[in-house]
Amino acid sequence: MSRKWYADGLHFSCQQCGKCCTGEPGYVWVTKEELREIAEFLKISEKQLRAKYTHRAGWRISLTESANGDCAFLADEKCTIYPVRPAQYRNWPFWNLNLENQSAWNRAAQRCCGINKGEFYSFEKIEEERRLTTKNTKVKKRNPRWAPQSRRNAIGDP
Ligand code: SF4
Ligand code: SF4
Repeated sequence: MSRKWYADGLHFSCQQCGKCCTGEPGYVWVTKEELREIAEFLKISEKQLRAKYTHRAGWRISLTESANGDCAFLADEKCTIYPVRPAQYRNWPFWNLNLENQSAWNRAAQRCCGINKGEFYSFEKIEEERRLTTKNTKVKKRNPRWAPQSRRNAIGDP
């Protein structure tokens, strides 16, 4: 197997700039398991969580956003459910899309100021994150609005 371009590892530490939690309309996919975790974290029932903070988008569930495009869980430019944020975010930026080649990574870095900063991820760790993303999200490209503007709609599909 040929050596991957990120074989020597990469750096990433979220700067919590909130940029990926706002912007053009998009989707934050959540699984049933994630909804359970978020409800527990917020100390509300799953029913309340679903009614107040989610909506159906086809066969999936997405977090709701405000009229200005902010995710419902964004406050003071920070994620208020950070420890239990959906997998779509947890494994960012180690998505197949961004790891395809160095240019794809550089493009992602233009949108996300945490890329190439802070914590070092070894090749093995990157591969683990990448596998988790694919396994957890099972996201397929379905909506062209998921274009590079924010992580929700832009950071794109894993
Ligand atoms: S754009 Fe990057 S640095 Fe900013 S909140 Fe999102 S992941 Fe973190
Ligand atoms: S759930 Fe995702 S989009 Fe919403 S505030 Fe948290 S990190 Fe941002």
